[in-house]
Amino acid sequence: MKLSENAIKVLEKRYLEKNEDGNLIEDVEGMFKRVAKAIASADENYTDKAGIEKIEMEFYEMMANLEFLPNSPTLMNAGRPLGQLSACFVLPVEDTMEGIFESIKNAALIHKSGGGTGFSFSRLRPKGSAVNSTGGVASGPISFMKVFNAATEAVKQGGTRRGANMGILRVDHPDIMEFITCKKDNSEITNFNLSVGITEDFMKAVEYNLEYELIDPKTKKPVGKLNAKKVFDLIVEMAWKNGEPGIIFLDRLNRDNVTPKLGEIESTNPCGEQPLLPYEACNLGSINLYNMLNEEKDSLDFDKLAETVKKAVHFLDNVIEANKYPLAEIDKMTRGTRKIGLGVMGWADMLCALNISYNSQQAIELADKVMGFIQDNAQKASQELAEQKGAFPYYEESVFAKKGIKLRNATTTTIAPTGTLSLIAGVSSGIEPIFAISYIRNVMDNNELVEVNPVFKNAAVKGNFYSDELMKQIAKSGTVKHMEEIPKEVRDVFVTAHDVRPEWHVKMQAAFQRHTDNAVSKTVNLSHDATTDDVREVFTLAYRAQCKGVTIYRDGSRDLQVLNIGKVQ
Ligand code: ADP
Repeated sequence: MKLSENAIKVLEKRYLEKNEDGNLIEDVEGMFKRVAKAIASADENYTDKAGIEKIEMEFYEMMANLEFLPNSPTLMNAGRPLGQLSACFVLPVEDTMEGIFESIKNAALIHKSGGGTGFSFSRLRPKGSAVNSTGGVASGPISFMKVFNAATEAVKQGGTRRGANMGILRVDHPDIMEFITCKKDNSEITNFNLSVGITEDFMKAVEYNLEYELIDPKTKKPVGKLNAKKVFDLIVEMAWKNGEPGIIFLDRLNRDNVTPKLGEIESTNPCGEQPLLPYEACNLGSINLYNMLNEEKDSLDFDKLAETVKKAVHFLDNVIEANKYPLAEIDKMTRGTRKIGLGVMGWADMLCALNISYNSQQAIELADKVMGFIQDNAQKASQELAEQKGAFPYYEESVFAKKGIKLRNATTTTIAPTGTLSLIAGVSSGIEPIFAISYIRNVMDNNELVEVNPVFKNAAVKGNFYSDELMKQIAKSGTVKHMEEIPKEVRDVFVTAHDVRPEWHVKMQAAFQRHTDNAVSKTVNLSHDATTDDVREVFTLAYRAQCKGVTIYRDGSRDLQVLNIGKVQ
């Protein structure tokens, strides 16, 4: 198995099984075997022992060849006592003291198992409203969000990974201004990503520079008005300042809600790619597109891709069965809709191997073609599973019943960030451009190691311009954009996140969104000197291009940046 040193380190720290003394009792191969066995066992009612072994082998090979990986909790917990396999959850926050603290407790249980939680705080009465039972005044959604944040902070000490949350407030909630500015100081509410829940009415009001009404969620009555453009500008200014808040288009999430009779979609998971109903969970998995290339790595093998999609859908559907849910309500909802989220990683590496620039029309057309192909094949696989095992239990309540399309899963596709998965597979994450062509990593004893993007290394060796010195030179800025000693055709193809203009980031996100049931995780990178007008332009483009949300990040706008060109840890 060809895993990088970095990947093995991450796996050893968090993913591989250890005994009570903290010593490893499995290796990477053992992990994939454990996972394959646990997930294949969900077929026990459908086939015999030999059949199970065959499925187990298929699942094992797909992971060991780094063609497909399920989300982190599945790798960590499958076949182990905890058994919680989903990355994404959404929990309701009711406007009662019991409801709020019930939700905090449930989030703690989910974080402990490696899952991330999303919440809408829109149902909470605004700050200053009356509390009937005490005669006091309510402290409002933002103050309760801080309690959720503190609970997450405490749980992260003992959990499998640090907890992640999404917090959403509707743009027509009376406390919206406080929400938009509440992470102005970066040291506040650190365990949350925040998004403003935008409506179509609001966007129209922005366009025509009109006022819009603020609605008290408890009384459902208008309690004030704000100028939409001013609110939008404040969101833009804050996002420019440090990337928060993002925005999500609530009406679009609900337009694509395939089970509207079961409830309204109020929130997504922490990174925004998975809209869910309250108490729904979803397990994700990603196909490594770089490993879907042919042997020569010069064209995409669509037969292999089709085969992998089919096996991946089977795998993810089995995860729903094998999963041990942290709450009875979650068990019921998740088994009821059987949502899965199949996505991709290594997209940028694949484009580079094919000599296609990320920021080109050709790349956008290929995105349409590849994701369209994955979506069609995933739906087909889900239909076949429905024929064999039955449609998802809430099928009759879904929009598919009217169309007569029987599916095993209410949704099949999602583009996840693949933060850890892409590191394990050694490819570019999700659909993001390459972050840096090479970078310096500090290793033990103060030694520095130059890490080079493997696809670039191949191209450099092939093109006869590889040298350790050059790679070190590139690591200073991460980009090869201005390096005359590298052939122009190579520089045009190996573009990094910062070389790609924001509009191409948005176009790529939109292309994948056109063929994705759920949503797309994407960060639109802006240079440090980008202006608030540039941010406004990105938000507007994303809205027009039918994205479901958008997150921006201006380089250097947070003191503690996870990835730093030139000084990556
Ligand atoms: P991975 O590569 O580890 O499988 P992703 O980076 O693709 O995970 O993230 C997918 C989803 O997993 C996120 O949107 C979020 O719901 C959940 N998640 C990611 N990181 C964390 C974390 N540290 N704690 C809890 N949940 C997380």
